[in-house]
Amino acid sequence: MKALRRFTVRAHLPERLRALEHLSGNLRWSWDKPTQDLFEAMDPGLWKQVGCDPVSMLGHVGPERVDELARDESFVQRLDALAADLDDYLQRPLWYQQLATETGGGADGALPNGLPNGIAYFSMEFGVAEVLPNYSGGLGILAGDHLKSASDLGLPLIAVGLHYRSGYFRQSLTADGWQRESYPSLDPQGLPLRLLVDASGEAILIELALPDGAQLAARIWVAQVGRIPLLLLDSDIPENDHDLRGVTDRLYGGDQEHRIRQEILAGIGGVRAIRAFTAAEGLPSPEVFHMNEGHAGFLGAERIRELIEAGLDFDTALTVVRASTVFTTHTPVPAGIDRFPVELVERYFGPEPGAVGSRLLPGVPVDRIVAFGDEDDATKFNMAHMGLRLAQRANGVSLLHGQVSRGMFNDLWPGFDQEEVPIGSITNGVHAPTWAAPQWMELGRELLGSDDLSSLREPQTWERLKQVDPGHMWWIRSQLRTALVEDVRARLRRSWLDRGAADAELGWIATAFDPAVLTIGFARRVPTYKRLTLMLRDPDRLEKLLLDDKRPIQLIVAGKAHPADDGGKALIQQVVRFADRPEVRHRIAFLPDYDMSMARQLYYGCDVWLNNPLRPLEACGTSGMKSALNGGLNLSIRDGWWDEWYDGENGWEIPTADGLADEDRRDDIEASALYDLLEQSVAPKFYDRDERGIPTRWVEMVRHTLQVLGPKVLASRMVQDYTETYYIPAAQSLRRTIEPGSSSAGEFDAPFGAARELAQYRHRVHRAWPQVEITDVDSSGLPDAPLLGSQLTLTAKVNLAGLRPEEVSVQAVLGRVDAADALVDPVTVPMRHIGAVDGGRQMFTATTPLPITGSVGYTVRVLPHHRLLAGDNELGLVTLA
Ligand SMILES: *Cc1c(COP(=O)(O)O)cnc(C)c1O
Repeated sequence: MKALRRFTVRAHLPERLRALEHLSGNLRWSWDKPTQDLFEAMDPGLWKQVGCDPVSMLGHVGPERVDELARDESFVQRLDALAADLDDYLQRPLWYQQLATETGGGADGALPNGLPNGIAYFSMEFGVAEVLPNYSGGLGILAGDHLKSASDLGLPLIAVGLHYRSGYFRQSLTADGWQRESYPSLDPQGLPLRLLVDASGEAILIELALPDGAQLAARIWVAQVGRIPLLLLDSDIPENDHDLRGVTDRLYGGDQEHRIRQEILAGIGGVRAIRAFTAAEGLPSPEVFHMNEGHAGFLGAERIRELIEAGLDFDTALTVVRASTVFTTHTPVPAGIDRFPVELVERYFGPEPGAVGSRLLPGVPVDRIVAFGDEDDATKFNMAHMGLRLAQRANGVSLLHGQVSRGMFNDLWPGFDQEEVPIGSITNGVHAPTWAAPQWMELGRELLGSDDLSSLREPQTWERLKQVDPGHMWWIRSQLRTALVEDVRARLRRSWLDRGAADAELGWIATAFDPAVLTIGFARRVPTYKRLTLMLRDPDRLEKLLLDDKRPIQLIVAGKAHPADDGGKALIQQVVRFADRPEVRHRIAFLPDYDMSMARQLYYGCDVWLNNPLRPLEACGTSGMKSALNGGLNLSIRDGWWDEWYDGENGWEIPTADGLADEDRRDDIEASALYDLLEQSVAPKFYDRDERGIPTRWVEMVRHTLQVLGPKVLASRMVQDYTETYYIPAAQSLRRTIEPGSSSAGEFDAPFGAARELAQYRHRVHRAWPQVEITDVDSSGLPDAPLLGSQLTLTAKVNLAGLRPEEVSVQAVLGRVDAADALVDPVTVPMRHIGAVDGGRQMFTATTPLPITGSVGYTVRVLPHHRLLAGDNELGLVTLA
């Protein structure tokens, strides 16, 4: 008989061990080695069995052992010290508090003008720790690392997502190498979560009105990630109909209807959860809202509803929401964008008879919502476009991806060259204490002479690696490789048994893989663009590399294909079939069920991290950063972050043949370049040893990698960048919209006057713009033979169609011209208003030295200008002469 449900009954903890609950309930243990060691010390065998999970540990340790530990003075002392350390971590002033003091923070604890008092961070997935499998891949891990670094820096951030009954799937293999999925249910009681309850102890529910009178309710689980609360909405409660209980059943499963319900819950429900949480905990309402990818974009619509309810009109509300919203896109291809049929959106947001808006969002007109997702295809609602229309600030996740995104979304800013599209970039980062091996962290502490790792963000800190003996660095690398080989053997055995092999056939595994052989890792999700099987392009050549007498390599491959992606599963099968053959199975393996714990072992132990995406489809990629933090050398196509930070000595660049239309030929060329590099550069360097057996040139590359990439790849650098580039400016914009407006007529005197003023300005500008015209441009001042630096004076007459001169920005644009007369890398020079001319036109002028030699051209343009816009390009309006 099978049990319907399972749960864990725990032994009572005596008073002296109560702090174990505190330590297990805060996920900070997942990046604090001493806390992990403490739980392991409770029962080392059991610790392995429970998957290194403190909550599960407390559930399984027997009462006798608990009593024993309570009497163990040294254990209790360690426990008390760690509990005190956690409290200190949660309370002491960190970077953000320091920033507040530097910028003149109020003595009463109020944050100074400029620093947001709260940031709400929305994501569909969060990869914080393997015990909370709320992620499918890079996007979720990135979100998890964002929270941990926000905690380390002291940011007042609150995160929101969904609690999935079974998370993403677990992967195993059939005998013939086909991916199998399973969805084990997660029992929230066995997870490091607490239920958000009201004063009387009742679960706080948030509610959403769906079409046809249906009502969706959700409870709120809180995971504590250091200082950061992560709110997870869960619809699996008796208050919901059977159908609606399943809304949060799994990550990225189901049809479009299922998905829009999840995204409505994450976005609209997410805002309501934040309101419930801050009210219950007495926290301020967050000022800044950050969408990590477009999935939670409906949050903007909910905030508009709140503001309409508070008395604002739609456009003013939108202005306030835009000012305080940041949107991060992670998708470099249109096919990767989340889109819904417009009719589905209309069904959920459509009006009730006789009312404005739906039951879901009373007062919010459905046509305004539909317009947010407008795109080329009139039947589709585009979530990325909604993100861009609801956020005054937007970014991609690497320099290259920023550039690709500006091209991809150029249509939303017609009239602007790609470079001027207001989408910036912040390159992703990874959380060092989570991803760097304990050996490296220990070395770091030794070099710093301190446990305080906040100076890891300074490049000088990493210079200290120069003091470290190459033998010691090599010893760390070799230890990590050896541990990886052990782990690979254990996983390989489990996988073969699971695929139906008998123990007696598996004797070979005991000597499979070799701690002395050059070890290459390739692990990531399996969408086509990542090209899992590029290494198999020429199987004979790969086999020769694996089996080389003097300089063999070994390859460890892992990754999940989306459950609906049979193409991806076929790629996995191809690798498995190759790796199953007795000739090579001791040198190449596909390991099923890639997750954070396996990933960590791979980053620690692999000498080389291979990445061969189709450029430029890897928005950033972060696995290579995690490898680099462990002294792994990247061998990668110049895509994502690697395009930005490869310096010729910190790894290898696989030359790309991007732009080549023939994909087969492109794969051939790039695979062959990969084999060449392995054969001629990578392996020779690894096996070139000095008299002590140390590959000195290799170790120098390891040192250089750590030194130059170490301070860059950190999530703390990323979160600081977000704070300075987006969160603080967004909070400032928000506060400005709330102030009274600047008009002297008293028209915008009340609170939100400035927002009303900007909303009205937008409206007027859009109406006037078709008539705005530059009627004449004259130049003067140049000598007959202009020289570099000669002064050029430009004068333009402009019909402003009723706009005032200070409401526009008139610019001279100068630069080199190409054969087609297009301006290349132009500079812009503001033109001064010098008065009115006949017919109501206005005159503007500027004098500027000629900036370059050669063929130079100029033009003049007019853009809207308002102090509350993030830039003159924000509205996407421009008129050229
Ligand atoms: C880092 C990480 C990823 C993302 O790797 P990419 O290089 O961005 O593909 C995916 N899964 C896990 C478990 C990770 O740790």
